[in-house]
Amino acid sequence: MSADAKKTPEAPKPSNFLRGIIERDLEAGTYAQRPFGGSPGDAAHHTAGTMDPARIRTRFPPEPNGYLHVGHAKSICLNFGLARDYGGVCHLRFDDTNPEKEEQEYVDAIIEAVRWLGFDWDVNGTSHLYFASDYFDFMVRAAEALIADGLAYVDEQTPEQMRERRGDFNTPGTNSPFRSRTPAENLARFRDMQSGAMADGAAVLRAKIDMASPNINLRDPALYRIKHATHHNTGDKWCIYPMYTYAHPIEDALERITHSICTLEFEDQRPFYDWLLENLARLGLLSHPLPKQYEFGRLNLTSVMTSKRKLKAMVDEGIVTGWDDPRMPTIFGMRRRGYTPASIRAMAEATGASKTNIWLDYSVLDIALRDDQEAQAPRAMAVLDPLKLELTNWADLFGADHRETCSAPAHPQHPEFGTRAFSLGPQVWIEADDFAESPPKGFFRLFPGNRVRLKYGMVVECTGCTKDADGRITAVQATVVPDTKSGTPGADTVKVKGTITWVGVHEAVPVELRLFERLFTVDQPGSDETDFRQVVNPRSKRVQQGFVEPALAGVQADARYQFERHGYFVADRVDHRPDAPVFNRITTLKDSFSR
Ligand code: ATP
Ligand code: MG
Repeated sequence: MSADAKKTPEAPKPSNFLRGIIERDLEAGTYAQRPFGGSPGDAAHHTAGTMDPARIRTRFPPEPNGYLHVGHAKSICLNFGLARDYGGVCHLRFDDTNPEKEEQEYVDAIIEAVRWLGFDWDVNGTSHLYFASDYFDFMVRAAEALIADGLAYVDEQTPEQMRERRGDFNTPGTNSPFRSRTPAENLARFRDMQSGAMADGAAVLRAKIDMASPNINLRDPALYRIKHATHHNTGDKWCIYPMYTYAHPIEDALERITHSICTLEFEDQRPFYDWLLENLARLGLLSHPLPKQYEFGRLNLTSVMTSKRKLKAMVDEGIVTGWDDPRMPTIFGMRRRGYTPASIRAMAEATGASKTNIWLDYSVLDIALRDDQEAQAPRAMAVLDPLKLELTNWADLFGADHRETCSAPAHPQHPEFGTRAFSLGPQVWIEADDFAESPPKGFFRLFPGNRVRLKYGMVVECTGCTKDADGRITAVQATVVPDTKSGTPGADTVKVKGTITWVGVHEAVPVELRLFERLFTVDQPGSDETDFRQVVNPRSKRVQQGFVEPALAGVQADARYQFERHGYFVADRVDHRPDAPVFNRITTLKDSFSR
């Protein structure tokens, strides 16, 4: 097993079939002699241009109808990554052809998310940020050219009639009575559709292909529908809107995309994609070489749900605090949780591209985060579940007011990060579970009669504990073993089996700690009959009051640390204040596979 395979046991071997296709195209020069007009446009526009300096063009085409999630992150990394690796350009294109669900808020959020992931669409001063709605004029022109050529017709059957005549997998469809209209009639009716005189649903423009095709997508698919709706970009200019299957290939062709990469469910659409572009090229509206569509498997993570509709329900029903809740698989949720762009890119990279949908264990993201942060995150001590430890001989040994200065490296492998200072006094906070009144077998931390080292401090010997009326432990007592201060001569002549982390009560910085676990208790929430609401993990978020060492007083939001023994934490970008700290646990140090 290779080192990489060991690190991410759940990750399937990255398959590079897309790289293989691109490399073959580059070798064959498929796209080498290809003029580019400098901006999106029709055949005339590109033919008048100069040779495209981009060796390939890919695109990430989100519909601005929601926030991006981890599956989109995969697609972003794939498309931008291929363009970067092969001397190409990746366009960010808003597929905004569906007026009712789209909003400027989502456009802005998507731009911010793609940037945050570390990608850019500005190349040599040209911004390749596009909106499909800017192509509406061309799309109507293309539709009219198809009508004139006898390849499209206006169908005025009711939706039910159309459904009945479509047939199914076993039954061929039957022709619409409107299918034999002349091009002139169709053109007149299509203009009526555009004029606003017809009601929503009264007619659709359909391609005239083959109602008996075994591929149902070729049974005269709809190209345009009537929708009296205001569009976020084009306002009330249009009352007809193109169907996704018609719009998408045209968007790709106008932008001179070479490799149009989409998820597997579009495989059956590919014949129509090619049919449409070939015909528009033959009619002189588009020019060769035309874009080609390639499908890869979706990325799914276990115990994660990525349906936009269901994520919206989680937000609307208050199951999470918002789209950026640190438990959400949205890019903004992952950002707030503390995952870094590099860790998300690494996860995407590790999963390659395959011809089947893949399910990855969520822990791959944690593994990627640890790989990214291990060498970078400064270390700090924190107590998540505090219990007071009283050093009963402190006053006799040093005087009650004495504070013993201690220091530790900010990072064990990076002396250049410097050191951090804190101090030991008569009372320190320790983790409640570092003490056991009657220790289980193999317990090496505090119990009466046992000695442990307070990390970077001194060895102490436990003498007992105090309890409240209900028998709950309220404090632990110990004595300091003299001459055991870390880093002083002879300090390690006293041998101990356990070392515990701590923070001095006199200087501890109180913090709110948010500890997260998986949002769902099952591997594939929402994928079967079970209502995802029934499988929400009640322990997915715990809020605790803890303490951190004084060096962390006043840190800014987004600062990341490794809290020794506890994992990676980030100062919450929304609620953290330098004088009222809030830390999210990004992930533990090791995977516990706990739910
Ligand atoms: P919907 O169409 O339901 O609104 P969507 O997830 O398909 O949701 P789009 O905005 O159309 O959203 O997606 C943009 C791009 O992201 C598409 O190219 C899509 O194939 C890709 N994508 C979406 N989800 C995943 C996923 N889980 N894995 C890989 N790529 C994905
Ligand atoms: Mg989609």
